[in-house]
Amino acid sequence: NLVKKALFVKSSAKIEECPADGINEYAFIGRSNVGKSSLINMLTGQNGMAKVSQTPGKTQLINHYFINGSWYLVDLPGYGFAKTSKASRAIFHAMITNYIQNRETLINLFVLVDSRLEPQKVDLEFISALGESQVPFTIIFTKADKISKSALQRNIATYQEELSKEWDELPKMIATSAESKLGREEVMHFIDELNRL
Ligand code: GDP
Repeated sequence: NLVKKALFVKSSAKIEECPADGINEYAFIGRSNVGKSSLINMLTGQNGMAKVSQTPGKTQLINHYFINGSWYLVDLPGYGFAKTSKASRAIFHAMITNYIQNRETLINLFVLVDSRLEPQKVDLEFISALGESQVPFTIIFTKADKISKSALQRNIATYQEELSKEWDELPKMIATSAESKLGREEVMHFIDELNRL
């Protein structure tokens, strides 16, 4: 087990409430239902760690988990959920933007996308906006067990093509599955590596 210890620390409604101890953190974000909770549970090896399939868009809090006494795993709220009001979407957007642009201890952002889908507008727009904040990010393809290897490769290639229109350097991309645990070691080793720098 790569995670020896995973502790829930707190939920924060805004950046000012987040832990202020200067510990490095690695955040996970994606549209509602992309499989973020399942991935976090898979990575930490703790099934109840993040809640799977809570009412989409309802929990708009920043959740901090302390991993192996050494770094924070941060569960950010899902974006792109249509059923919330415009006003609450705006508050949510401001909170996430503030977190991404100003959280000094954020080392890397993992952006989750569904491996079965062609690049989605809401995801591409979110990724595009990351260019302004200059935060390092990685693309995680979720639910890879649900499609064939060739379809997965095709979808990853399409993503690379799409992103290369805008980015000189492509981000790292990792295929994962909460079912088969595909990508677990790659994600955890990548975080360990970054955390040693
Ligand atoms: P979240 O809203 O992004 O936190 O998504 P959840 O983790 O709640 O997952 C949404 C739905 O997708 C649930 O029904 C999960 O069981 C399912 N799911 C999530 N990850 C996987 C995966 O890797 N493989 C498969 N087959 N289903 C998944």
